[in-house]
Amino acid sequence: MSEVIPFVSQLELKEEQEWIEVLSRQLPKERIVGFSALTAADKKDAKIAIVANPNPDEISQLPNLVWIHSVWAGVERLVGELGDQPFGIVRLIDPELARTMAEAVLAWSLYLHRDMPAYARQQKNRQWKEIPYRSVSNRTVGILGLGELGTAAAQLLAGIGFKVIGWSRSQKQVDNVITKSGEDGLAETVSRSDILVSLLPLTDQTRGLIDKSVFDNLPDQAGLINFGRGPVVAIEDLVRALDQGRLSHAVLDVFEQEPLPTESALWDHDAITVLPHISAPTNMKTASEIVARNIVLYRQKGILPVTVSRKLGY
Ligand code: NAP
Repeated sequence: MSEVIPFVSQLELKEEQEWIEVLSRQLPKERIVGFSALTAADKKDAKIAIVANPNPDEISQLPNLVWIHSVWAGVERLVGELGDQPFGIVRLIDPELARTMAEAVLAWSLYLHRDMPAYARQQKNRQWKEIPYRSVSNRTVGILGLGELGTAAAQLLAGIGFKVIGWSRSQKQVDNVITKSGEDGLAETVSRSDILVSLLPLTDQTRGLIDKSVFDNLPDQAGLINFGRGPVVAIEDLVRALDQGRLSHAVLDVFEQEPLPTESALWDHDAITVLPHISAPTNMKTASEIVARNIVLYRQKGILPVTVSRKLGY
């Protein structure tokens, strides 16, 4: 029997147990054990850990880790808290997660595209009034971040006829999507986006990136969807742009502080839709299959999955 694989998380016990059961089914030759049940020898032997928002103190009690596999896609917390540790950090890359996110981006892009916030307001005022229809082929959706999730979203939107423009750090090529990179590329993407979607990770470079200068550069009455990370949007600048009527509406799934505090003014803002970080939940079954595949490959061939770049922060 190979050494134990610790499952290190700050999840509720029941959810942690569920993860351990599903992962153990995928990895019948491995012994996957929650941190609290590890012996001193287990801790010393462990080379791989599977993690879900782990407590850094517990990770530091596993001195011989070669790599850790997160069951989430976002890694800013792991990089921030464990970035100086010598082991590799592997994040979840799951086509099912990308499909789920693309579906959410499509849903909320259509919500903005078909003027649903305005019709909801009109209904409240018993107002029967047609807003002129604009075809998807006349509507451009800009996507900031053309990674696993952004690319899937861009392709789905392009597939139903939206004009799609995407921006990333390195230049990308995606069928039926105009792709841009660099500072000029950001300015061009923003200036063309009737709906701007952020699927950027949170890094030193992206924190506060979507600020007043971006809102000033968006077409009049543009909408914003933030499904990446809260602090990428300068929230006070956003509220000002909405209050001034420069932007029409914002759909926010992610926030600086989560859960969004009950006293936050964002809850009551007419032009903001608040979602409780639900655009793309991890699917336990598909995620476990991917984690298992990566661990088997490592055990059999010594191949480590692609690890997060500490330098880039994602
Ligand atoms: P990813 O594959 O790492 O893609 C990140 C994209 O952002 C890449 O295209 C990258 O450019 C680009 N990027 C990063 N820094 C940049 C910068 N400074 N300037 C321009 N572009 C930059 O990540 P992913 O799997 O698509 O996930 C994206 C984010 O979604 C995650 O980090 C997480 O925060 C969030 N997320 C949210 C939910 C939710 O439910 N709300 C669920 C899962 C994930 P390159 O292609 O050139 O590297």
